[in-house]
Amino acid sequence: MTRTVYVNGEYLPETEAKVSIFDRGFLMADGVYEVTSVLDGKLIDFDGHLARLERSLTELDMDKPDQFDDLLEIHRELVRLNGIEEGMIYLQVTRGAPGDRDFAFPDAETTRPTLVLFTQNKPGLADSPAAKTGIKVISIDDIRWGRRDIKTVQLLYPSMGKMMAKKAGCDDAWMVEDGFVTEGTSNNAYIVKGGKIITRQLSNDILHGITRAAVLRFAREAQMEVEERPFTIEEAQGADEAFITSASTFVFPVIEIDGAKLGEGTPGPAAKRLREIYLDESRKAAI
Ligand code: PMP
Repeated sequence: MTRTVYVNGEYLPETEAKVSIFDRGFLMADGVYEVTSVLDGKLIDFDGHLARLERSLTELDMDKPDQFDDLLEIHRELVRLNGIEEGMIYLQVTRGAPGDRDFAFPDAETTRPTLVLFTQNKPGLADSPAAKTGIKVISIDDIRWGRRDIKTVQLLYPSMGKMMAKKAGCDDAWMVEDGFVTEGTSNNAYIVKGGKIITRQLSNDILHGITRAAVLRFAREAQMEVEERPFTIEEAQGADEAFITSASTFVFPVIEIDGAKLGEGTPGPAAKRLREIYLDESRKAAI
């Protein structure tokens, strides 16, 4: 099936959409992105993703794309044109395509940012088997750059991390720096001890997950205790349960870390409850 995608103001069949070979996203990974999930044909946490996009652009001194104010409408139109009930919208902004390769950022007069969006149709997204079975993770060194709070398209190491996990017969990898877990390759990481939810505090070391913000808010509203601090793999292996969050997984329980089963080795009640609350509340607030 041919998708309709969006490139710089135009809706096009995916086979006809093109960007320049001089695009700095292609040459330098000079770009940022967002992934917004779709449930019941509606956008989940759209305002949060838009706010983080604006922050990523500001932090990299990148201009907003010319169509920035139309982004809600563009997301909705792509959902409509592609008939998405459950899935994701991927959005990428790069610094554009000046006439030649150069390390220095181009002048604003030379080029405008490139804006690309496409849909990913995922029927059954909210009913994923991993939500019921839980996932297994391995730990790997976090060797990424120091501005992980900016959602850039430099995803080579996270891709390598996923491959390391796959090779080990696991689903994902948690990254460790100076002895403490930073986050998953494409998600935020949590443990649960004595009913308390523990997750690393926000800083430049991790992506400020939009799902993380919502899940912590719902947890506090449900009178669950939350502590934002770093934890080690050893502490996680001894926790009652663990889980991850992201826009495309919502909440997935973690049942094994580096071969050590957590608790009974089955999904725990806190992860299950938070997933239910997150899905219920997000569906109600979807636009
Ligand atoms: N951390 C990293 C490294 C990620 O790539 C992602 C998802 N892109 C997240 C956390 C989760 O962020 P969000 O909840 O906004 O999807």
